[in-house]
Amino acid sequence: MPERDLLMIPGPVMCHPAVLRALSRPVMGHVTPEFINIFGETLERLQEVLKGEKSQAVVVAGSGTLAMDMTAASLLEPGDKVVVLNTGVFGDRFAAICERYGAEITTLQAELGDVVPSEEMEKALQQGKYKLLTVTHVDTSTGVIMDIEAVARLAAKHGVLSVVDGICAAAGAEVRFDEWGIDVYVTASQKALGVPPGLAILMVGSRALTAYEARRTPVTNYFADLGNWLPIMRAYQGRERAYFATPAVNLICALHVSLELILAEGLENCYRRHELFSQAFKAGMTALDLQLVPVNLQVAAPTLTAIYYPDGVDADLLTKIRERGVTVTGGIHPQIRDRYFRVGHMGAITANDLLATIGAIEGALHASYYEFDLGAGLAAAQERLAGA
Ligand code: PMP
Repeated sequence: MPERDLLMIPGPVMCHPAVLRALSRPVMGHVTPEFINIFGETLERLQEVLKGEKSQAVVVAGSGTLAMDMTAASLLEPGDKVVVLNTGVFGDRFAAICERYGAEITTLQAELGDVVPSEEMEKALQQGKYKLLTVTHVDTSTGVIMDIEAVARLAAKHGVLSVVDGICAAAGAEVRFDEWGIDVYVTASQKALGVPPGLAILMVGSRALTAYEARRTPVTNYFADLGNWLPIMRAYQGRERAYFATPAVNLICALHVSLELILAEGLENCYRRHELFSQAFKAGMTALDLQLVPVNLQVAAPTLTAIYYPDGVDADLLTKIRERGVTVTGGIHPQIRDRYFRVGHMGAITANDLLATIGAIEGALHASYYEFDLGAGLAAAQERLAGA
């Protein structure tokens, strides 16, 4: 793949050159004063980005699924009741993980491309004695975003722990961890946080810590036991030496840089940029008469777009887009897997990257004999970017 090609999938994403340079630094010892300071600052920057200043950030080598696994392993015991708000494939995944630790799952299933209605959540929480609720902030299989502030507040009202899968959202969609009363927010390095894959990230609030301490049985997974990691994270933040399992030193250096760039841009600006790019991209697709998977723009995520292929076009389109120097990806939702494709537009991308992607999609559609006004998608996106 030529080095100037664009990677526009919903994670992993292209990274800022400064982030990549951090990866190629000489490897530091994980308990050297220099690295202790970098890791400590990284945890503090995560608190700033996720607005969890009163809570504990945890960073562990692994992918996002490990962060989900750590949450379930550490908070659940056999027989605990969990309600899963399911907006796609990653709701299924959280249910499967919780089930593995012996939880009884109730799933509130959203219609394809839509969110779970709030009345349904309210009803379920009134009826059941749930310990924990999971919700996917942005489901990467459908491109749907949930209002996690409302969900977290509702869960807190009913004394249920709220666990948010923010893997495809953090740094691309707003989160105010402490203020909204979220109990655990899990994410990963390779999406809007703009770092290569390899870090599982959690923000853990005080109610979750209390629930962990109140366990009756030991955690049945050694690596995923939050109790092994919390003292290590606290030590790094206190600029002290500590060791449980070797941290991914260079990836943490890269995250340190990426968080600095995000904070330098300003969180509000960063969210606004994601929203603007998302609106411009969606306007471009709509102008080509393509249909989006989310049922309306209110529930459509700012970090990616899921688009149905038009009649007569199939996954061969992805190859044609790739030939034009842009990588996008196919569908993963079992109900519509072969009928749609997905484009990520998060992290350190520019408006030019977005326009180049739309240009490549138009070129590929044209080469697939789909009839449309060449340039219509680009014009609509340009207009939106220009604030028209
Ligand atoms: N949840 C969501 C919303 C995701 O987008 C992903 C990754 N596509 C995961 C969970 C799983 O994360 P990972 O692949 O990093 O394990």
